[in-house]
Amino acid sequence: MRADQILRPTPAGLYCPQGDFYIDPLRPVPRALITHGHGDHARAGHGSVLATRQTLDIMAIRYGDDFAGQRQAAEGAIRIGDVTVSFHPAGHILGSAQIAVMPDKGPKIVVSGDYCRTPNPTCAPFEPVACDIFVTEATFGLPVFRHPDPMDEMARLRASMAEFPERPHLIGAYALGKAQRVIALARAAGIDGSIAIHGAMQRLCDYHVEQGIELGPLVPATADQVDAQLVIAPPSAFASSWVQRFADPVIGFASGWMAVRARARQRGVELPLVISDHVDWPQVTATIRELAPEEVWITHGTEDGLMRWCELEGFAARPLRLVGYEDEPE
Ligand SMILES: [Zn+2]
Ligand SMILES: [Zn+2]
Repeated sequence: MRADQILRPTPAGLYCPQGDFYIDPLRPVPRALITHGHGDHARAGHGSVLATRQTLDIMAIRYGDDFAGQRQAAEGAIRIGDVTVSFHPAGHILGSAQIAVMPDKGPKIVVSGDYCRTPNPTCAPFEPVACDIFVTEATFGLPVFRHPDPMDEMARLRASMAEFPERPHLIGAYALGKAQRVIALARAAGIDGSIAIHGAMQRLCDYHVEQGIELGPLVPATADQVDAQLVIAPPSAFASSWVQRFADPVIGFASGWMAVRARARQRGVELPLVISDHVDWPQVTATIRELAPEEVWITHGTEDGLMRWCELEGFAARPLRLVGYEDEPE
């Protein structure tokens, strides 16, 4: 069986004709398999959703209990039509999974979704899954992207907080995944006091704590008087009047894109923290070497550099040019 009979790019997303399902579809479909809860991958309104228990919980928190007609938690090998699928940790955010699609005859395809190999205190580590075709993102798919150790970034945050004890430190972080990771990293770096969180993050933080991720004392950053030096808020809050309650803040932002100085300057970020939930160049290339698939399919991002690398290394590579996936969505 040819590979595109098992999985092929369509305007609605990656489609599996043998199982009649889509992976991370961009618009409502009868049957969706979803890698993780970020908004560009997990959308409401599908007939049925198969995802990890945690991704289903996260979708219910974000979209309400009726986000899909039916839902099924992924456990073990699951038969759908003429293929078998299984979910494996992707190391990106809580609940994130790669999806393996296995036909009875033909190539085994692993769709990694968004993934990361840097240890992350908020989720299970990426599990390498042997496959014939590896479907990878290329968000940071250029040799210039080499992300630092997140603890080095935390040391810079601590140093700034010590240098400016009277100034609140407002750190922009996406509400799902990044915010909780920054808080957990701050705890690991020895920041013990209360951390204030924007109201938009409360339920997702509560859910992480329920799932056993320790975030320490959190206070709402909605009160007029915020009693914490470290404040975590989604990027959108920085464009609202919410930010005006803080006098002389140090504005920080946690993102892989903070490696690009022009982006940090553009956003008026005084304290850029390079913390990424995506593979950087050394990680994506090491992963492809480790898995040694027959073919690499590249979903989105800066695919040209990775395409070229694959050619030089002798891996057949194909850009899927899927549109609709953002690089670091909220
Ligand atoms: Zn994501
Ligand atoms: Zn994504």
